[in-house]
Amino acid sequence: MIKGKDFRGHAHELVDWIADYLENIEEYPVKSQVKPGDIYEKLPSRIPQEGDSFQRIMQDFNNIIMPGITHWQSPNFFAYFPANSSYASLLGEMLTATLGAQCMKWETSPAATELEQKVMEWLRTLLGLPAKWHGVIQDTASTSSLVALLTAREYHTDYSINKRGFSKSGSFRIYCSGEAHSSIEKAVRIAGFGSENLVKVETDEEFRMEPGALEAAIQEDMDSERKPLCVVATMGTTSTTSVDPLESIGKICKKYDLWLHVDAAYAGSAMILQEYRWMTSGLNYADSFVFNPHKWLFTNFDCSAYYVKDKEALTKTFQLIPEYLKTKADKQVNNYSDWGIQLGRRFRALKLWFVLRSFGVRGLQDKVRFHISIAKDLEERISAEPDFEVLAPRTVNLLCFRYHPNGVTDEVKLNDINERLLHQLNATGRLYITHTKLSGKYTLRIVTGQTNVEPHHVERAWDLIMETARKLA
Ligand SMILES: *Cc1c(COP(=O)(O)O)cnc(C)c1O
Repeated sequence: MIKGKDFRGHAHELVDWIADYLENIEEYPVKSQVKPGDIYEKLPSRIPQEGDSFQRIMQDFNNIIMPGITHWQSPNFFAYFPANSSYASLLGEMLTATLGAQCMKWETSPAATELEQKVMEWLRTLLGLPAKWHGVIQDTASTSSLVALLTAREYHTDYSINKRGFSKSGSFRIYCSGEAHSSIEKAVRIAGFGSENLVKVETDEEFRMEPGALEAAIQEDMDSERKPLCVVATMGTTSTTSVDPLESIGKICKKYDLWLHVDAAYAGSAMILQEYRWMTSGLNYADSFVFNPHKWLFTNFDCSAYYVKDKEALTKTFQLIPEYLKTKADKQVNNYSDWGIQLGRRFRALKLWFVLRSFGVRGLQDKVRFHISIAKDLEERISAEPDFEVLAPRTVNLLCFRYHPNGVTDEVKLNDINERLLHQLNATGRLYITHTKLSGKYTLRIVTGQTNVEPHHVERAWDLIMETARKLA
């Protein structure tokens, strides 16, 4: 057992381990190279009878666990969207773990509640969100979107489904584009609407929702006695970071009295830049909004910023106070367990506060802008190569492209070439990229959003991609 008298020493050792790891992170293969079952088989089948020492636990951590880690904090990580961190965030997280406080009610840690309130106001200003919105930190965008759909459901049924369930309520319809994140369909299932009632609206040639098609779908549903309830617009889709036309969608939602939820999980961070403030236009129509500081705002997972226009609708949906959770302050304060699904909540505002204070507005803007400029440079390089093809317009710092050698026109063959290219690249351990499909085309994705990415990382990645591709052909 690790004892109090040894804690200080072990903690110092661990901080050294952490600093060494982060300094030498580029020496690890970015994507873990193990096979399914490799790690599991190395782990003993039983808990040790007598407690192990810190040294023995660390030894196994280094030898067994580390080879099975994919290094999300490596600057050669270009996959999915980043889940980036920073020194400031990590330090804040250490304190959260140390305090081990539950932040469910104001009384269970007043500072946690009031700091959360304050940092959510800071973020609201930083992104240029409507001043009357109320913010709360959720674990993930998936949870935030589920909370939005549940609130929409209750708000539009006079809070009756919470009481009586779905009997006799008919079929509610939810709308998003075919490019919306899978978490929306998951939320539709969990909220009890049924995935058949999720209408995937057509997109234009730049992968943005077609407002005309949205309105037609709403009218068709009304004509068939179905009940349009909520539209989910995406600001920065996962495949291409396309941005749905919020202004037009907002007007439609207003006309038909529908809840508008905006999923800006990744690209929302770009709104901290003046040159991306155009993204806020139409936000005044939104009822709820989510973006993830744990993706592209240097705050380690988990930290999802969720905003609502109508605080009452949110708390009326989720509040349920048994006797043992009643406190004297209930009427004067925010009790964030009433603002979402979880009762127990981590003190996530602390690491966010560390990040916001340590970077400052300028530091955050500089970094996000830098990440976008790196992507812009790469875009020019890709466009300059006759045997590579850009497959979607760039909004922020995601590039979608494929290798298209001269003379190959068969789409099946092109898909196969690009899939093989992806696997060969990732097997080198020198970078990690992922893919999507756009209009049936196997598409490679590169995101230049890892906290410490520099132009030379991207240049080396691009050289490796060209070299590997041309050897394949
Ligand atoms: C990443 C992503 C999500 C899911 O985020 P989690 O916080 O992991 O749930 C949802 N929507 C979009 C557009 C995303 O890019």
